Amino acid sequence: MHSNHTKNCKICNSAATLVKENHQGYIKGSSFDIYHCSACDTSFADCENFSTDIYQFIYSDPARTPGYNRYYFYADSIKRVSRPLDYLSNFEPMYWAVRKILSEQYTDKKFNILEVGSGLGYLTYAIREEGYNITGLDISENAVRDATNRFGDYFIAADIFEYYKTKAKSYDLIIMTEVIEHLEDPKPFIECVLEMLKDGGQVVITTPNRTVNDTAALWSTELPPVHLWWFSEQSVKALARELSCNSKMLDFTDFNRTHFDKMRFKIYKAYDYGPTLDMTGKLIHPQSWTPPGRAGLKNILQRVAAIVSAYEPFNTLLTRKEYPIHKSSTLAFMLSKRK
Ligand SMILES: [Zn+2]
Repeated sequence: MHSNHTKNCKICNSAATLVKENHQGYIKGSSFDIYHCSACDTSFADCENFSTDIYQFIYSDPARTPGYNRYYFYADSIKRVSRPLDYLSNFEPMYWAVRKILSEQYTDKKFNILEVGSGLGYLTYAIREEGYNITGLDISENAVRDATNRFGDYFIAADIFEYYKTKAKSYDLIIMTEVIEHLEDPKPFIECVLEMLKDGGQVVITTPNRTVNDTAALWSTELPPVHLWWFSEQSVKALARELSCNSKMLDFTDFNRTHFDKMRFKIYKAYDYGPTLDMTGKLIHPQSWTPPGRAGLKNILQRVAAIVSAYEPFNTLLTRKEYPIHKSSTLAFMLSKRK
């Protein structure tokens, strides 16, 4: 029997503890209970009664929705650049991770690749421009229609719980960036993904990393019900164990040497996530996104800080201990089925 103060952790099946009641939700006035499972170091929001209508609001104005506006910018600008995957990799660690895996392990362009949760479609497009055979899959028919119109006819709208049945052992590599934190129950979803892998195939998954944050932060990621999970390295190990997989974490040292992430440095305060939508679904602070400039003294100092922080004593002086150079705000890992 579970009391009101514990709940089963859907990742490792241990009892998770209620750590915050009525935490602010993504919609102003809504609230969720936050649980933490100490057995697998995973946080999750209690999400038995919520509607996915929230994505209709987000995707009605993605260009001005904080947290999504940069995705819109990438989709809108990517066709104008000559090396789209390099372009994305320079912005975000998750795309850098995907590019690294492709260039190190998938040099043969004949590999069959699937992106799950392709959304606006620009990552699938960027990988296709590198010469790979890749398809984008998304549950949203609107997203797939828009991606097809913008980039071409290599996107499919389907529910993975149906799609996987027709695609057993079909893919060498499956890519899933920033998807699992949105799911009510990630484990059966990943199981479907694993079924679609050929023998020896891998899935690469990215999701926000809770362990680079101050340990006092109960929920420093997009508010529920947009994000329902906040994972750690331990969560990955538990997932791999539960799914009979081998797991491998990506090391971000090379990315961090050349890219400045505020969160790594002591002088910056953690970002405080407030509600994004008002009670009618309207944006509270609509804003578009433009890439940070490369010129100016501040940017130069930030680039210098990134470089020198790879070395002592600057590392200890400048950066937070929770966020060592091999980590990133994104957790990136690979799963492959154990033989
Ligand atoms: Zn757990």
